[in-house]
Amino acid sequence: MPSPIGHALGAVAVVWAVDLVERRPSSDRLIIACALLATTPDLDLLWPGSHRAATHSVTAVLLVMMIAAAVTGQVSRWRTTLRCGAAYASHLLLDWLGADSFPPRGIQLLWPFSGAWYISDWDLFRQTARQHFLTPAIIRQNVLAVCQELAILVPILVVIWLVRVKALTGLSTELSRGDHAAQ
Ligand SMILES: [Zn+2]
Repeated sequence: MPSPIGHALGAVAVVWAVDLVERRPSSDRLIIACALLATTPDLDLLWPGSHRAATHSVTAVLLVMMIAAAVTGQVSRWRTTLRCGAAYASHLLLDWLGADSFPPRGIQLLWPFSGAWYISDWDLFRQTARQHFLTPAIIRQNVLAVCQELAILVPILVVIWLVRVKALTGLSTELSRGDHAAQ
């Protein structure tokens, strides 16, 4: 399962991708909030025996979207709701793609409707350890895992960022042309 760093970067990539599809940039505050939000499913580690169950399900994604819709303003409601849902769902995707050495392996995607555990077995991201952080073996394991996450996610982020900058610059040019034409 990826580290919080991997999950935060994954969320930024997803939010930037949604910006591209919607052709509307998110604010820096919203991007940071989404990055933090994508790390929250693993707070279930605080409750032993419940890891990767309820908080790693589509039910949790829907709940996050409902809460986001309830706490945001009318105008930005859908934009913020969509990005929060996508950022949270990116955590589920990265966990599904990652290695998991602790049975039951994977995530309970359809909780509470199904108790099945889902995992891709592609082991794209290494297993990270969230306990005994300061022992040399765990430090090495986590550093290697984060390096692999950066090697995969940073190039994806750079590509999406470049495309996003180009697309949004083109959009603002189009808008200013439209303003001039209207005057
Ligand atoms: Zn997780």
